[in-house]
Amino acid sequence: MIWRSNGSPKCPRCGGRLTYYVETEGGNGIKTIRYVLRCKACGYRQVLQEVMIRKTSEGVIISLPKAKN
Ligand SMILES: [Zn+2]
Repeated sequence: MIWRSNGSPKCPRCGGRLTYYVETEGGNGIKTIRYVLRCKACGYRQVLQEVMIRKTSEGVIISLPKAKN
């Protein structure tokens, strides 16, 4: 994975530009937020970070079930 703070990330498959975006999914009190890099040219997709937000009777719990570099 090539990631530079001073430039845009590069697709490891085709060398194209990766687009950074956030997707959410959920229901039933649990919401998952994913921070994803995607290449429009070849369809490459990488999940950078997943955040899970769960609502319970004691409050809201935020967990990080998956952490990738
Ligand atoms: Zn690509």
